Amino acid sequence: MATTTNNAVVYMGERNIQIQDRPMPKCDIDQVLVKVICTGICGSDVHNYCDPKTHPGLILGHESAGEIIEVGANVKGRHVGQRVAIEPAFVCRRCEFCCKGLQNVCAAMKYGGMDKTDGTLSQYFACEPEMAVPFPDHLPWEEAGCIQPMAIAVQLARQANLRPHQTVAVFGCGPLGLMIMALAKAYGASKIVAFDIEESRVDFAKTYAADVGIVSPMNTSGKEPLGFAKEFINPLLSEYDLGYGVDLAIDASGAESCMQMAVIITKPYGTYIQAGLGKQLCSVPMWLITAKGLTVKGTVRYSQGCFADAIDLLARKKVDIAPLISSKYPLTKAAEALEAQRAKEGIKIVIMNQE
Ligand SMILES: [Zn+2]
Ligand SMILES: [Zn+2]
Repeated sequence: MATTTNNAVVYMGERNIQIQDRPMPKCDIDQVLVKVICTGICGSDVHNYCDPKTHPGLILGHESAGEIIEVGANVKGRHVGQRVAIEPAFVCRRCEFCCKGLQNVCAAMKYGGMDKTDGTLSQYFACEPEMAVPFPDHLPWEEAGCIQPMAIAVQLARQANLRPHQTVAVFGCGPLGLMIMALAKAYGASKIVAFDIEESRVDFAKTYAADVGIVSPMNTSGKEPLGFAKEFINPLLSEYDLGYGVDLAIDASGAESCMQMAVIITKPYGTYIQAGLGKQLCSVPMWLITAKGLTVKGTVRYSQGCFADAIDLLARKKVDIAPLISSKYPLTKAAEALEAQRAKEGIKIVIMNQE
């Protein structure tokens, strides 16, 4: 092989990364070797980057796509030159959950870019063929770097049993919230209502996939939280013609006040999905959940086939991810990219691994 470097983005300490030339990964007989082209950056990368407890030496990154450059002798169904999205979960494929197609909760899960499993922010990455999901050549590399978060949105839609003609409220207009809105639109939702505390984010959501955008207030005066949430949500139902509430409410913010508002805006027998990670212990009105007979579910990562569905949505332009990609950085400037993501500059930042 002509290539001599395998530059990788390595965590060294709190907000301190180094570009290190790591040994070229060896492609075992049961593996493929991927030349990584593009990697999306997200909040969990920044969390690791800023966390003093992260293990020094860890390679960051987990939203990657690239091209297969070597195929192990035992591998079937993959070939050199094939474009693939890397599904960065090392799962056992044997536990109770894996056997049900629920690799997202594999009992022996190791996840790329999460302590102490190296991630994909390197020039090369070796993995099992099951972790390298093919996508068509016409999908641009930058967009392919967003297949992993799109798969998370697909999993959410499965959890929610998202169907056409439903009304959907999404709290949080960050990348995940926006992808969920785009997906809901692709699935035929009749009305999508976007909430965020930042007006600029709400405005963007309206130009992108939301039918209605609402800036939610902060409870700064110390008002009783449930009363505050009801006072804000209830008038919106008639104002935006939402009847008794929405069929499906999603919290993609992780903020406790949004969780309370999301329960209130969900109509009787509707569904509430928690996608954002916030405080470990939050106060939500359980009596309202009971009285309205709500279905309440969490969602995590993606299960069997979500990558393929995400690829199909992007490749057929049922979801247009391009407007979300706000900037591109070469791998050598990963520190700048992580700082920009930390400062929440733009929406989706991608790193070009070979540059
Ligand atoms: Zn991510
Ligand atoms: Zn397993």
